[in-house]
Amino acid sequence: MAETLFSKIVRGEIPCDKVYEDDTSLAFRDINPQAPTHILVIPKQDIEDVSKVEEDSGLMDHLMAVATKIARDEGIDEGGYRLVINKGANGGQSVDHLHIHILGGRQMIWPPG
Ligand code: AMP
Repeated sequence: MAETLFSKIVRGEIPCDKVYEDDTSLAFRDINPQAPTHILVIPKQDIEDVSKVEEDSGLMDHLMAVATKIARDEGIDEGGYRLVINKGANGGQSVDHLHIHILGGRQMIWPPG
């Protein structure tokens, strides 16, 4: 897959406001936040989108566990929050490196735009 700016963030070539890191994942604040708390959780491995995750790899389980832990640590668990994965053009994906958006700190509306 083509490299994206998130690969460069993983390698430390582009700075980010990091909130969490482990061997396989990284989380940082979105540069254009859409809510008081807006954090992206990404795999360190270059994976284009959610459809490219290897079955039974456990990666999505891990990324979701990281996202829910961050939400607790950020103090948005009690009020609630939204996890979003955009896939492809119609899904509104603008960076072709799998990421989970954590959005919280305000009332979300439904349906999303
Ligand atoms: P998506 O539209 O689902 O692909 O989300 C990509 C997200 O990446 C958007 O919310 C952007 O604001 C965010 N973003 C783009 N560049 C950066 C960056 N350098 N650091 C942090 N977030 C970024």
